[in-house]
Amino acid sequence: MGETKHTGPIKLPKKPDPALWASKVPFGLGKIKPHHIRDTMKVVWENKDNLPYATRILTQGVCDGCALGVSGLYDQTLTGPHVCTTRLNVLRLNTMSAIEERVLNMDIEDLRKMSSTELRKLGRIPYPLIRKAGERKFSRISWNDALGKIADKMRELDPKRYAFYTTSRGITNEVYYTVGKVARFLGTNNIDNASRICHSPSKTALNRSIGVGASTCNYKDWIGTDVLIFWGSVAANNQPVSTKYMYAAKRKGTKIIIINPYHEPAMDNYWVPSIAESALFGTKIADDVYQVNIGGDIAFMHGIMKHWFEMEEMAHGSAIDHDFVSQHVNGLEELREKVTAYDWDQLVTSSGIQKHQMIELAELLAKSKSAVFVWSMGLTQHRFGTDNISQVANLALLRGFLGREHCGLMPIRGHSGVQGSGEMGADPFVLPGGGMGKGNRERVEKVWGFDIPEWQGDIVGVSLENALLPEEHERKLDLYYLSGGNFLETMPDPDFVKQCLENIDIRVHQDIIFNTSTFADAREAVIVLPAMTRYEQPGGGTSTSTERMVYFSPEIKGPRIEEARMEWEIYVDLARRVKPDQQHLIDFNTADEIRAEIAKAAPNYDGIQHLKNRGDVFQWGGAWLCEDGLCPTPDGNGNLITVELPELRKPEGHFYVTTRRGKQFNSMIYGEKDPFNDADRYDVLMNEADGAELGIKEGDAIVVYNQHGTFHGRAKFVAVKRGNIEAHWPEGNMLIPKGVYEEFAGIPEYNAAAIVEKAETYFAQKDTKYVEKRVEELEVDIS
Ligand code: SF4
Repeated sequence: MGETKHTGPIKLPKKPDPALWASKVPFGLGKIKPHHIRDTMKVVWENKDNLPYATRILTQGVCDGCALGVSGLYDQTLTGPHVCTTRLNVLRLNTMSAIEERVLNMDIEDLRKMSSTELRKLGRIPYPLIRKAGERKFSRISWNDALGKIADKMRELDPKRYAFYTTSRGITNEVYYTVGKVARFLGTNNIDNASRICHSPSKTALNRSIGVGASTCNYKDWIGTDVLIFWGSVAANNQPVSTKYMYAAKRKGTKIIIINPYHEPAMDNYWVPSIAESALFGTKIADDVYQVNIGGDIAFMHGIMKHWFEMEEMAHGSAIDHDFVSQHVNGLEELREKVTAYDWDQLVTSSGIQKHQMIELAELLAKSKSAVFVWSMGLTQHRFGTDNISQVANLALLRGFLGREHCGLMPIRGHSGVQGSGEMGADPFVLPGGGMGKGNRERVEKVWGFDIPEWQGDIVGVSLENALLPEEHERKLDLYYLSGGNFLETMPDPDFVKQCLENIDIRVHQDIIFNTSTFADAREAVIVLPAMTRYEQPGGGTSTSTERMVYFSPEIKGPRIEEARMEWEIYVDLARRVKPDQQHLIDFNTADEIRAEIAKAAPNYDGIQHLKNRGDVFQWGGAWLCEDGLCPTPDGNGNLITVELPELRKPEGHFYVTTRRGKQFNSMIYGEKDPFNDADRYDVLMNEADGAELGIKEGDAIVVYNQHGTFHGRAKFVAVKRGNIEAHWPEGNMLIPKGVYEEFAGIPEYNAAAIVEKAETYFAQKDTKYVEKRVEELEVDIS
């Protein structure tokens, strides 16, 4: 933690710098790029029935899009307005009216024909609904009866047989804190959140490396750092305003390096709409791009460190910051031994990066005085995700790029609630203020006034699998209480997920809209509860950005949905019904009361109790965590972690396959075409040379298959690393294995090996193989 305070936003230079222009043609005419003005006009049109309210949300509320973080139209990094099309696209979720009665009365089979995009456009859930087993339609139910039914079921069940889950979109810290507390009050640790499938490895790895699982620095540190690395992160697409910070960084001479299997066009050149010069001529973002194999990052980082150790042999201090390491870091010798034992051929094969390229980046970092490492799903969504992030921390620790200006480690978050959900304790491994270990548990028990169960709660994927356990198993999942989320579109193997969802007695969907999961059957009943958005909640709410800014979002005057309720209030109501004799232990009546308790239960959040008005914000932990190299670990030192080279399971003739986002906000799709490369949702991104080897031409129908599933798409030739392909998420999820979780953080594996074939060959071969097999069998029979 640090003493230094964030110094607030800075101004961009006024004079243009043509050296950074992407094109001399105004507005990038003729180039494939997003059309911000057209997209904005579309949003205005969509919100035309509620424009004053939409405007108030934008100017007064805290963005419910990604976790870059902005209050109204201003952030803490740069003066000037901050808004993007992602925020504008999700705006409609807050301004639309209720779903029409006729739709609510539709047959379930007709509802099931709609995609999540179509369902999102239907409007808000107006009142509680129930669909019992065997019924073909939802029917209206009162709040009293709905919560009574859930509470009755919970009272019947051992708490190990039910679970809670919270999404990361739009939910406030107050809700996460309350549901975390309610779950423990009811006796279950089965509570998890959406960060399990995105950044849980970041938190786990940073905790073991530096003692704290959050970004150590600010976006301001990008601006003027020597090197800014985006590793497995397409921030330009997922956190669009970050491009403004990148522009500012370029203006200060920062070198931007991109590491990704695909040379993402969005990270190459970007037309930043709020900067006149960039809106007109674009900005060159990437100085260098390293196209690594999917899963080859550990090898790449080993290569960088291996070269550092070689440099050190030639000249002590030429690569490693020995002052920093000797005073603040453990484990140098073990790391040296591990890294130097790998030979270059192994590292080149695994990473797909040539030795001279690894040396090039190693030397750039060795001569830099500062660097910020930013990463995202490209590093975390692997069965070795935690090790990936520990490697990044190793690089920063060896060079002393930690705890000071223009240096740091930043897991950039894609959803406004990802940072806060874990910190508030909506997580099976976490309580407010720390982990589930005895010390923190006893401390939180004192604040809460009741005992917290000691058994280990399940992560979301395992909770889902528990639905298929035999009836007599103590963890057979009988009730799943979901606040948002759509597992059918976010978890690997959708068919399996559907089976799990259907094998639960009662499934509760607390949400603002329907999604495809809402319509899966349940053994007893599906109960749908209408939630308020963050802007509707009396007393407002807070959310925590990637850079640990805790922003207050006030209640905003506007139309309301008939029976939607504050989410934290629903959980309190439920808890009181399940354990009426102990309801005094869970008696929040206002959002202020919750914030006051958060400040006690999560010491880092001391200050949240003072957030009451629009624009209120504070940053927990100060400007730099681990300031001056002092880490919040037991001995105050950072830990270098030795990491094995992962075994990459790619048999002969297979491709590495991973999933990628297009024009979408997490799993919400906003356009069939990706505005950066013109790919449609069923295009498979592959290298032209790989296509040529397989006789595949651009646009050919292809089949990608493995033991997990079969994906039918079209070949799209792009600058992706040879031997690697990318399919869109969630459409390509059937290729991903189920039940494979990362060892330390429980994130599911989101990568696989797969065969690619031209569709016509695939079908022809299937027939041939069938015939050959039959002939073989016949031959055996005859002999
Ligand atoms: S970049 Fe993120 S925080 Fe900023 S406006 Fe867009 S969605 Fe909201």
